[in-house]
Order: sequence, then C-alpha cells, then structure tokens
Amino acid sequence: MPFEYDDQNIFAKILRGEIPNDTVLETEHSLAFRDIRPQAPIHVLVIPRGRYVSFDHFAQEASEAEIVDFVRAVGEVCRMAGVEADGFRLIANAGKHGVQDVPHLHVHILAGRSLGRMLSPA
Ligand code: AMP
Repeated sequence: MPFEYDDQNIFAKILRGEIPNDTVLETEHSLAFRDIRPQAPIHVLVIPRGRYVSFDHFAQEASEAEIVDFVRAVGEVCRMAGVEADGFRLIANAGKHGVQDVPHLHVHILAGRSLGRMLSPA
C-alpha cells in the first residue's frame, strides 16, 4: 500500500514556517522542537524534514543521509538535554492502533521523571 502524505498536517506547516515552534535543534534533514502539551519535564519531538508519514514509511523510502541525520538528531537532543544518566523514553506512534495524531513521522523524547511501565495492561 503506498504511503499518502497530507501536506496540511501541523508538522508540515511547522516545517514551512507557517506556524511557530519552540526549536531545540535544526539539522540538514531534521528538526527538533518542544511538544506543545508536554507529558514529562522533558518532551521533545524530532521530525524529518522530508514528507514521511510514519517510521515504516521513513525506513522504506528515506535516503541513508536522512536516516543517519534523524537518528543522530535524536541522540544529539538527548545529549543536549542531559538525559543519558537518568534515562529517557523514545516513542514513535503510527497509524490507528498506534494512536498517531499527526501524520508526519515524529519521535517523542520523554525524560525528567520516572515514566512508569511502557504500557498499561489492556
Ligand atoms: P502523536 O499522538 O504521537 O501523533 O503525537 C502528536 C504530538 O504532537 C502530541 O504530543 C501533541 O502535543 C504534539 N503537538 C501537536 N501540535 C503541536 C505543535 N504545534 N507544536 C508542538 N507539538 C505539537
């Protein structure tokens, strides 16, 4: 099934500079900014600049340069935020069951307190 990207999603608008964001890091292929509704003392989103809906889309179609840049950007934000010692969590929601609200790939970096177990029992 082909991936269909919606150019009107809110992160596309951020990338085009149509709405503001609280930038943490800019790289050639990626952008990191603070989540507008933080769920932990540190809550940063890292997105690729390219038109990718989800992690699986990115893994299939992004160039190696984009993938390296994105992974390094996640690591760099963790380093900048100083979260390596106490730990952090990465989340990339995808699709309906992943309850993805914004259909542009983003990795949540959450840290600054104990985050509890990964999921509650169903
Ligand atoms: P997800 O449910 O994984 O798609 O997460 C989307 C995230 O985007 C949520 O944590 C929102 O709080 C966040 N978000 C939505 N709009 C903005 C915005 N304009 N700036 C920063 N974060 C946003």
